[in-house]
Amino acid sequence: MSVLVYIDTLGGNIAKNAMEAVTYGSKIGSTTVVTNGPISNDALASLGNYGASKVLVDRSITVNDSSQITNLIATAVESTGADTVIISLDLTGRAVASRVSARLKAGLAVGAIALPEGDGHIKVNVFSGKAYGHVKINTAKKIIALTPNSIPVETTGGSAAVEDFNGNAGASTVIVKEVKKQEGDVLLPEAELVVSGGRGLKGPENWGMVEDLAKVLGAATACSRPVADIGWRPHHEHVGQTGVAIRPNLYIAAGISGAIQHLAGVNGSKVIVVINTDPEAPFFKAADYGIVGDAFDVLPKLKAEIEKFKAQN
Ligand SMILES: Cc1cc2nc3c(=O)[nH]c(=O)nc-3n(C[C@H](O)[C@H](O)[C@H](O)COP(=O)(O)OP(=O)(O)OC[C@H]3O[C@@H](n4cnc5c(N)ncnc54)[C@H](O)[C@@H]3O)c2cc1C
Repeated sequence: MSVLVYIDTLGGNIAKNAMEAVTYGSKIGSTTVVTNGPISNDALASLGNYGASKVLVDRSITVNDSSQITNLIATAVESTGADTVIISLDLTGRAVASRVSARLKAGLAVGAIALPEGDGHIKVNVFSGKAYGHVKINTAKKIIALTPNSIPVETTGGSAAVEDFNGNAGASTVIVKEVKKQEGDVLLPEAELVVSGGRGLKGPENWGMVEDLAKVLGAATACSRPVADIGWRPHHEHVGQTGVAIRPNLYIAAGISGAIQHLAGVNGSKVIVVINTDPEAPFFKAADYGIVGDAFDVLPKLKAEIEKFKAQN
């Protein structure tokens, strides 16, 4: 099979979800990557380490313009003759996957969380992660939109050939007025561990407890939507149906009720720990470990115990 993987490198680096998409593609067939962005050839060549044999880069696309990126992917499919396109469901992927599907008249599996099975069925997340579906694409060209953090990155030790590529992108109609970079040591969409706070933490002045615990764990911080809406925390930390969807190995939620819209963004987490004063809080139904208690008491104790454990091990 001939596979084309689109990755977004506009940030100038290769994100973990891009490595996952290339790993995924290379498990299906011979993989070419297509991208755009201000990124070095060395960084692009390193995609060979995840199984890509070639990388096509169109550096004329300098903004996140889904119309240009759709043109780029469609041109690359034509040029490479790829029969399968892999797109990670990051912000860019969510915008372009269905456009590419319409352009190529290719069936689209949205939210893949596993490799295609022997009979061609692909397991996907449906209803905001509350259930699984098995879909089969019957068109000759196939598009698989991959859920981030659903498959492990694998390395091969290889290096990819990098080629400049004209994606026939056309002129951009997008004007970028301001770019705000996410702050913090660990980026939320890529984090393996996340500590999150909700309205139960009463105010922004109490977030030190969340940040302190996150720091000892090497975790990213997150929050519920009202917390970002009130301005206690930045919007890029808001997780859920209308925020970032994450699938970390560990999600610690303090003072969050567990509304369905919040769960939609975190219920793919491998282990969920919930801290809430209300034993009837709905989040406990989704939790692997539940602590009925006051976050103001529990978070500092958790931090102290982890520090103690680290000192002894
Ligand atoms: C269309 C739509 C989309 C939405 N999208 C999102 C989304 O993407 N993400 C999202 O998060 N929400 C979303 N919401 C909002 C969602 O419905 C909830 O209102 C929201 O998640 C509640 O936030 P919360 O749990 O922080 O606050 P609350 O519901 O106020 O819950 C606070 C919790 O803290 C507990 N608590 C109080 N004091 C303490 C303490 N000292 N220690 C421990 N626990 C304590 C309480 O028992 C309570 O369970 C959306 C809503 C709509 C309608």
